[in-house]
This record gives sequence, structure tokens and C-alpha cells, in this order.
Amino acid sequence: MHPTDRLQGETPERLAERFGAALRPEEARRIVAHVVQRGGDSLLGVQQLRTTARKAVEAELPIGVVTVRERQASQEDPFVKYAIALPDGAVVETVRIPLERAGRYVVCVSSQVGCAMGCAFCATGMMGLARNLEAWEIVEQVRLVAAELRASGEGRVHGVVFQGMGEPLHNLDNVLRAIEVISNPCGLAVDARNVTVCTVGIVPGIERLASMRTRIRLGISITSAQAALRRSLVPMEGKYPIREVVEAARKFHERSGRLVMFAYALMGGVNTTDAEADALAELLKLMPARLSLIDWNPVAGLPYRPPTAEERDRFHDRLAQMGVPVIRRYSGGKDIGAACGQLATESKRKPRGRRGGESVADETAQPDES
Ligand code: SF4
Repeated sequence: MHPTDRLQGETPERLAERFGAALRPEEARRIVAHVVQRGGDSLLGVQQLRTTARKAVEAELPIGVVTVRERQASQEDPFVKYAIALPDGAVVETVRIPLERAGRYVVCVSSQVGCAMGCAFCATGMMGLARNLEAWEIVEQVRLVAAELRASGEGRVHGVVFQGMGEPLHNLDNVLRAIEVISNPCGLAVDARNVTVCTVGIVPGIERLASMRTRIRLGISITSAQAALRRSLVPMEGKYPIREVVEAARKFHERSGRLVMFAYALMGGVNTTDAEADALAELLKLMPARLSLIDWNPVAGLPYRPPTAEERDRFHDRLAQMGVPVIRRYSGGKDIGAACGQLATESKRKPRGRRGGESVADETAQPDES
């Protein structure tokens, strides 16, 4: 047993395989439904579970415990941000995003404590990477929000987007494992087609997703289509140039049939020029794509600014005139630091003299078009 394994990271199928004859498949399903769906904190409450089976599971797999340290509801829009404390004292942030259709929500989850990618415009990038999240710690973020929505009668979790703290393709094993539980009918039963994994562009991770013929959606954060500018904002550009990223995304689209979501955070005076719009249009000719424009959200200590209305409109209209399927997206929760690119545990931010700001966010708020 890995010392950090917890029950919430297991599907019924994996549990049954792990315990063999000691646990019947129907017992495994009941355990996962009790712990993941209903938030049970002890196996004593599981119906029709033999004592020997219960003791076998308890001896190997405890139920993990996380706590909501802080809950902040936006005063400007119906976004809620949660600071969730993990067993080792680390804190990650999770955001509840309302969809247009009443009663449906998307949960924006974190996949790492901090992030190693160092994007110059991102609050999380200022923290550096502390550690990967375990699969069960990702599942728990969704479960907590689902439980709150159920208890308050407000609705249910419709989708999940990996766009919180961390680069999900840098922790892909645990992310995929979490998605299995999140989408399992005995787990949180969120349709995998409504799960979006957003990356800054880790090519081997995209290729791995392409090879799996997965049903999940892929989001790519572009930031700039011009190599030199992108390298100054996204260090990963030096390792995986954006054209290679788009090529990998094209393979993903071909094999999965899913439309790839490209996101572009507008930083006023930085990546809103006509030359940038032209380079972006050229890049997106390489594959069928949809582009979301989001304003960069202010982060203390970073010398960027959101675009002016004029910059935003000009950039959008120029792309639209060139035939790019482009939409504008609203990124909410700015007043509570829950908007795209703003997530970070305050105390962990390292001062930095570079520029910053981007996001990909409420893309999952869109109906599936693929
Ligand atoms: S934008 Fe994403 S990949 Fe880049 S530093 Fe922030 S969390 Fe990490």
C-alpha cells in the first residue's frame, strides 16, 4: 500500500481487483458509493458489507480527510472559492462556477500544491511547486462542492475543469485516476465529457491523452502565438513550442473526436496587438478549434493590466474577420481572487519581478459541441 492512498481515490473496479476474494464486486460498489457519493466517514455505515471485508479494507485504505479552511462567496457574481486544507497542512483552492442553466455548476479544481511551470502572469506560478495532489485529494474537492450543493438544494455538479492551481499534465497519473472516480456512476457520476483538462502545453501529456481515446475535453492555454513573446510569458514554450502543442492537440482531436478549447488571456499592451491576432489566426488554421478570449485578471505584485475595451474589441473583431471561431468569456469571482490566473495560497506567493496574467476558465460552462 502506498502510504498516501485513500479510499476516495479508488473506483469499485480497482477496489475489487485490489482485494480479490476478500471483497465482492457489489461490496466494492457499496463502499465507493458510501464514501465518495455520500461522504461517509466510516465503513460501519455501509449496508450489506461483511465484517471480514470491512476489516480488510479498513486495514489497508483509510478514508482521507480534508477540511474547508475558508469559504468566500463573491459579492459580484455567484462564484464561491474554497481554501481546502490537506492532511499535511498544505492548502489548495477550488472554485464553484455557476452555469447559465440554473442549478448546474462546474467545479474548478487544483491538481498540485503550487505549480512548477512558472508562467509569468499567474498567481500560482509565483508559488513554485510544493507537491502533486493525490487522486483522492482531487476527488475530495469535487465531493465537497457536490455535498454543499445537495445540502443547500442549489443544484448539482455538471462538470469539472482542471484549471485551478497546478499543471494537470504534470501530475497526469493522479489526474486520470481522479477523473475515473469523479465520472464513475458509484463515485460522483459526472459525465467524463464534461471534464476538461487545461494545459499550458505539455506535449507528451497531450499525446498520452490522444492515445487513450478518452472522452474528456482538452483545453490549451495559448497566451501568445509568437514564439519570442510566448517564451517570455510561458517558460514551457522553450521546451514545447506552441506549434508542437497545437500539432499534439490536433492528434487529440482526430483520435477523440472532441473539439479542443483554446484559451487566450488578454493582457493589455502585451498580447493584444494586430500582429499577435494575425499570428494567432495563422496558428489556429492548423486544426479545428474554438478560441475563448478572457481578460487577464489582476494579481498583486504582477505588472500587467487587463485590456481596455478598445483593445479587447479590436483583437476580437480582427480574429473574427479572419474567420477564427472566437468567443468572449467572462471570468468571475475577481473580488475573491477566484478568477482565472488568480488562484494561489496567499502566504506561499514568492515575490517576483516578472510580468503576469492569463487564464482559461469557464470554458466548461459551454455545452459540449463535439
Ligand atoms: S498558468 Fe497554469 S501552468 Fe502556468 S504557472 Fe499558472 S497554474 Fe501553472
